[in-house]
Amino acid sequence: MAKYKIEFDREICIGALACNAVAEKFWPRTEDGKVDLANASYNQETNKWELIIEEDDYAANKDAAESCPVDAIKITKIEGN
Ligand code: SF4
Repeated sequence: MAKYKIEFDREICIGALACNAVAEKFWPRTEDGKVDLANASYNQETNKWELIIEEDDYAANKDAAESCPVDAIKITKIEGN
């Protein structure tokens, strides 16, 4: 099973909520009008939020990444074929 790393640059997020519309479970709205990446950890070196996901959760998050108008969401395969 492949695994993927999502990296979310919350600094450049403009709160367009496209990600929330396609994958609300992963991209819940927040009080400041943006979103969080649910259960993510903050990487102090890259200043991005990170979450490892399984293959099953890839499609929804790929849609979220592609829908983001400012490319705040990056997904990289880290394991598997
Ligand atoms: S689609 Fe992009 S800009 Fe809009 S809320 Fe999601 S991460 Fe932020």
